[in-house]
Amino acid sequence: MIDLHSHILPGVDDGARNLSESINMAKRAVEQGIHTIVATPHHLNNRYENPKQTIIDRVKELNKALVEEKIDLNVLPGQETRINGEMVQGYEKDEILPIDNTQYVLVEFSSSHVPRYTEKLFYDLQTKGLIPIIVHPERNQEIIDRPDVLYKLVEKGALTQVTAASVCGDFGKKIKNFSLQLIEANLTHFIASDAHNTSNRTFKMREAFDIVQAKYGNDLVYLFQENAELVIEGSHVYKEEPERIKKKRFFNIF
Ligand code: FE
Repeated sequence: MIDLHSHILPGVDDGARNLSESINMAKRAVEQGIHTIVATPHHLNNRYENPKQTIIDRVKELNKALVEEKIDLNVLPGQETRINGEMVQGYEKDEILPIDNTQYVLVEFSSSHVPRYTEKLFYDLQTKGLIPIIVHPERNQEIIDRPDVLYKLVEKGALTQVTAASVCGDFGKKIKNFSLQLIEANLTHFIASDAHNTSNRTFKMREAFDIVQAKYGNDLVYLFQENAELVIEGSHVYKEEPERIKKKRFFNIF
């Protein structure tokens, strides 16, 4: 299994604080059945800078340490960029790092809203050959309130990644249910861990896929897992026609 989103690099953001925490995360990842993990440190999120070259250097060091520890996990370089109006310029200045230098870039919104310029920015990124992957849309309040905002972005070519722990209910029942709605409406294309540590923000990939399998069957599990592989290969991913999420209304009829 491949994990496209993690904070496993030591001392670069709010993920692993040091090498020993990275090693513990790596062991946990392997227990989950993960053989390849993309290290995606925060970029331009509050206090974290993490430009491209720093991440590439740190990933090399971590892979070396994992070989020494005999842990069978391959770490690939990536980045989780907080959405900003200068992303295209950032890419041109070689500060943005797509997943393992493919065309796929992880893009994070704040937890409250989706900037008005998003559609235009995504269009500009796509004309540069990049494909944005929106991380954890299920945790964004504006998207929860108005799922059509996400629908429109997906319709125009953006991809999305739901976090495994969200599917498991770790962020509450509302976010769990909304994650399932996104899956059912073909509004998400990947499940990844966004693991930060081995305690309160751990992997939960196996648990999430167990839920997906029980609810929707094996085909969807394979689709998500294969999509992660296709990203690493730099190939096109599988996309089903996205649907609009209808707001659920509950009527009590007596
Ligand atoms: Fe993250």
